[in-house]
Parts: sequence; structure tokens; C-alpha cells
Amino acid sequence: MKIMLLGTPGSGKGTLAQSLSSGVGLPHISTGDIFRAAIHHKTKLGLEVKTILASGKLVPDELTCSIVFERLTEPDARQGFLLDGFPRTIPQAETFDRKMELDSVILLELDEETNVTRLTERLICPDCGAIYHRTFRPPQKADVCDTCGGTPVQRPDDQIEVVNKRLEEYYRLTAPLIRHYEDKQKIHRFNALQSPAALLHEVQSFLQNL
Ligand code: AMP
Repeated sequence: MKIMLLGTPGSGKGTLAQSLSSGVGLPHISTGDIFRAAIHHKTKLGLEVKTILASGKLVPDELTCSIVFERLTEPDARQGFLLDGFPRTIPQAETFDRKMELDSVILLELDEETNVTRLTERLICPDCGAIYHRTFRPPQKADVCDTCGGTPVQRPDDQIEVVNKRLEEYYRLTAPLIRHYEDKQKIHRFNALQSPAALLHEVQSFLQNL
């Protein structure tokens, strides 16, 4: 199954994909995670994209597509994948659609106010990528990642000024993908305001019947 998760930054794509991945046995491929890992490890790619991520803008399409297609050649992606954060522009979608066909685009929907709070309250473990929320889903022990023992921190791009820029970029460049995949009858809408467990259950049931 080739699945794409679509929705604003903060709609819960990453949290859903992390839980869904083991259940459905498909790798979670997040372009944001790939870029952040490269920045963390100070690789050539990391140095190239660091200031772009910090500004809330998007990495150029060509570079992003080449990173994704390279990742998709790995053996774990042969049976399918959960794409999180890609494609994010119409040119990326067109490049992707020329290579392969998605089975479904899972669109997560929520209101703008909740969206902003979710982003500014979010914490992420820089070592393993586990996602937390300061109020609703803090780590069991303060400042210690439940999964790997790392120290969850706020992403630099989850600060309010950058959040506003990222949402602006979403509505300008990414939201047109809804129409693009609606025309291909691939869009399936889910209410992202429900609890992560309820959302997971709903999406799992949907995928079982796909
Ligand atoms: P995310 O973790 O999905 O919110 O992505 C974090 C940042 O990584 C974005 O704000 C962009 O700067 C960059 N990024 C992630 N995915 C893409 C993509 N498909 N195209 C361009 N830039 C991306």
C-alpha cells in the first residue's frame, strides 16, 4: 500500500504515521525527519537545508524529490510506505505521480487555532524523533524521552514566528494538492481533532477495507 498523509504542519501526521507504521508494517517516510536527521548529523545535505528549515520555507523541489526517490529504493519500501510531508507542492506531486500511483491520500483536518497551539506546544526527541505535547502528551518522566532516553525539545521551527510562515507556505503551496488528488479520487478526510488513539483506530479500519 502506498499511502500519503496530508494536512497542515501540526495536524498530527507524524504522530499518526509513527503509530500506524508498526501496525500496518509499512515504513514511515517523513521528509522533515530526513532533513532534521541530516542537520543533526551535520551532513552535506544538513548544511544545505539548515537555514531553509529554520525559516519555515520549503526545500527546493528537485532536491526533495531526489532524496525521497533514493529512500524509496530501500528494501523496506518495496511493499509500500506511509509518506509524511511529501509531496508538498504541485511540481513534487507531478514528479511523484509520473513514477508511481498512491493508493490513498489521508487528509487530516482541524481548525486553525488548535493547529497553532499544537505546534507551539510540541516537543520532539532529537535522537529518535518521538513526538510529545507539553500538556496533553508529555513524556512520562520530565525531559526524558519514553522511547530512547533522549531529551525532547521544541523544534526551532515550532516557534510562533516560524509557525506562521510554515502555515502560510502550506496554504499557498501544499493545499492545492487536495484538489489535485481529489481529481484522482484519492482523498479521504479524517477529523484530526479527535484523540490520537481514536484517529489511529479510524484510519486503521479504513486501511483494512481499502
Ligand atoms: P515537517 O517536519 O514535515 O513539518 O517539515 C519540516 C520542514 O522540512 C518544512 O518546513 C520544510 O522546510 C522541510 N520539508 C519537509 N518536507 C518537505 C517537502 N516535501 N518539500 C520541501 N520542503 C520540505
